[in-house]
Amino acid sequence: EQLYRVSVTLLDRTSGLSALVFRDQSEGRRIDRMRADFIANASHELRTPLASISGFIETLRGPAKNDVVARDRFLGIMQEQTGRMARLIDDLLSLSRVEMKPMLKPGETADLRPILERVIDTIDQRAREAGLKVVPNWGEDGFTVLGNKDELFQVFENLLENACKYGRDGGRVEVSLGRRDDAGEPGIAASIRDFGPGIAEEHIPRITERFYRVDVEASRSQKGTGLGLAIVKHIVTRHNARLLIRSQVGEGTEFTVFFPERKKLLE
Ligand code: ADP
Repeated sequence: EQLYRVSVTLLDRTSGLSALVFRDQSEGRRIDRMRADFIANASHELRTPLASISGFIETLRGPAKNDVVARDRFLGIMQEQTGRMARLIDDLLSLSRVEMKPMLKPGETADLRPILERVIDTIDQRAREAGLKVVPNWGEDGFTVLGNKDELFQVFENLLENACKYGRDGGRVEVSLGRRDDAGEPGIAASIRDFGPGIAEEHIPRITERFYRVDVEASRSQKGTGLGLAIVKHIVTRHNARLLIRSQVGEGTEFTVFFPERKKLLE
């Protein structure tokens, strides 16, 4: 639906020639609506665990007052729910931080190799406990791109975490870094590939939306907030890079962050 603001502008005083000017307001409306949706979603996501905690408190003060077994179980659930709220708030803050940040500092560079190494280090222990092998795949070269180290760390940490969460059954996750082409354009690509269940085609365009999850129950049990990929997408876009998603149901998923090489910057 289109929305226009119409005004009259006088072009020529002597003849009185005027023009009707139509200004397209649809974009502003769309952003307003997205913001409202986002707040509604975020509130709902926070309200759900809160309602559950509140319900358990009531039960513990009433019917289960003297039931020691129930008390332990309910306290456990309440703790899980507070954890979920805390993760959600962390992700919301993280998202608003990257959204509010001004442009990247010009000329700021980051070598992707040490970033990926650090990401693997932080996740390796957990991955191993889950029976997963994280396999790095690169040579000695460094691959420097224009960008912010901390933000790029966050991108790859999110992607590797997802690969470990959702691709666990595949037994291994490959992390690659190298030069390659995308759509005929040369660039640097960093990929995280898992051998898990994959993502059905119809979901792929939507998984970077805030709060979008393919399987809500499974994602919830995997401690998801549905915000991880929205944060990833935002940071990647800020870096003038591309997030490429390739997935085959039953075979696995590969997320690639592609940094096109800009000639001007190389000169
Ligand atoms: P979440 O907090 O739920 O993990 P994300 O934004 O990180 O949120 O991911 C959105 C959804 O995309 C997930 O809930 C999951 O359904 C799907 N997804 C993400 N990464 C993978 C992957 N490697 N394999 C399969 N599905 C994935």
